[in-house]
Amino acid sequence: MMKIDGKTRLLGLLGAPVEHTMSPMIHNKLSEILGINEVYVPFHTKKEGLEAAVKGAYELNILGLNATVPHKNHIMEYLCDIDDGGRAIGAVNTLVRMDNGYKGYNTDMLGLLREVKSYEINLSNQDIIIIGAGGAAKAVAYMCMRENASHIYILNRTVSKAQDIAEHMNHHFGKNVITAGTLLSYKELEKKKYIVFQSTSIGLYPNDDVIIADEDFYELVDIGIDIIYNPFETTFMKKCRKAGARAYNGLKMLLYQGIIAYELWNQISVGEEIAGAVYEKLLKKTRNNIILTGFMGCGKSTVGVLLSEKYGYRFIDTDKVIEEKAGQPVSEIFEQRGEEYFRCLETAVLTELNETLSNTVISTGGGLPLRDENRKILSSLGYVVYLDVEAGEVIRRLAGDTTRPLLQGENPEEKIHELMEYRRPVYEQCGDICIQVTGKTIDEIAEEIINEYQKA
Ligand code: NAP
Repeated sequence: MMKIDGKTRLLGLLGAPVEHTMSPMIHNKLSEILGINEVYVPFHTKKEGLEAAVKGAYELNILGLNATVPHKNHIMEYLCDIDDGGRAIGAVNTLVRMDNGYKGYNTDMLGLLREVKSYEINLSNQDIIIIGAGGAAKAVAYMCMRENASHIYILNRTVSKAQDIAEHMNHHFGKNVITAGTLLSYKELEKKKYIVFQSTSIGLYPNDDVIIADEDFYELVDIGIDIIYNPFETTFMKKCRKAGARAYNGLKMLLYQGIIAYELWNQISVGEEIAGAVYEKLLKKTRNNIILTGFMGCGKSTVGVLLSEKYGYRFIDTDKVIEEKAGQPVSEIFEQRGEEYFRCLETAVLTELNETLSNTVISTGGGLPLRDENRKILSSLGYVVYLDVEAGEVIRRLAGDTTRPLLQGENPEEKIHELMEYRRPVYEQCGDICIQVTGKTIDEIAEEIINEYQKA
């Protein structure tokens, strides 16, 4: 818990709505890690109150602000200065306190650039396709121009909006680099590889649409960057990867726009190790995965299916994924290849899921959290729920079950007690929350998980 005292400085977000923002998490985590006495809070601000909010914030000595929908453009009227990016894009999302008011910056653009650089992607002298011509696409176009792309093609449903961006940016940079077109004009482009930015809102969860469905388009993609980050792997990214291209989402853009704002407010530079720690938290929070862990027989699969139905999430069981990949049941893998081999399969499956998975309830094998590396992956994959069950209940539930390789042989009850004693501290360490399940119905357990998950 943050300590607030007479020296605490305030940071905040102006927008409407602001209830689902990730910004407080990013900035408060940075303050916590760096030991800086600042608190970041969201302010639900109406359009008609925006001027008063900016002036009031300055009078209240607020150190810095972010602006989000619907204020990114209008707020520019109330600032003492605006940096070149914000001015050219026509939108700012960060206000930095100066001697005579706030100066506006567009750290969305700077954040995307930092993401791109983190993947060692060079935009200079490259041919680029930008899909979309909304507010975000403007920032992408500015970034590509500033980085000296050779040519930029902006494709949009409403072609006049793409033309506006092209004219404006070509004029701003004094060179004729951007060409506008419709969503179908990729068919006329030279058949070679391009860096492609997907900057429309198509594909945002829960819709899994894609702005261009034609597989031929993806033959043009060398690297695809979708600035959407929910789902974690969008259909656009899937299609890029299927065509052999590299693909990334916009979660690091979100991370870095926040980090750059924080750097501007505090006149510091935030290193990659700290950025990585914040990113881990962001991953956990934005992916909407609920991971169920616990001893065999604790009800992970049954509860998991119910939870997935309630949230409209996918459900997967890591043991089932392994069985499908290996083409044989878990009991046979144990028998023929041994436990260590099976644990390696678990790590491989988990690593693969970690690349793509979001909005999913995941039931994990009872021994999966035993490996350090698996616990690490689970922690960034989502919200980990430990279903704690008493040994007596497990013995009752698993009586006569011959599919559990670790309980075969003489005296399975003693084996259950032994294994539970060994594993309990591991489950406790790995779980974000622990739910006692003994004697409770599946509905009661699901409800408890939902209550805790909503608070997280
Ligand atoms: P915007 O200004 O509303 O622009 C929306 C874009 O999507 C326009 O190009 C629009 O085309 C296109 N579009 C919407 N519905 C369409 C449809 N049915 N068919 C074809 N095209 C359609 O939104 P924005 O602010 O640019 O944001 C775009 C996306 O970027 C959002 O999903 C947002 O979440 C994401 N974003 C991510 C970050 C990050 O940090 N990762 C930051 C900013 C934005 P028309 O012009 O033809 O309407």
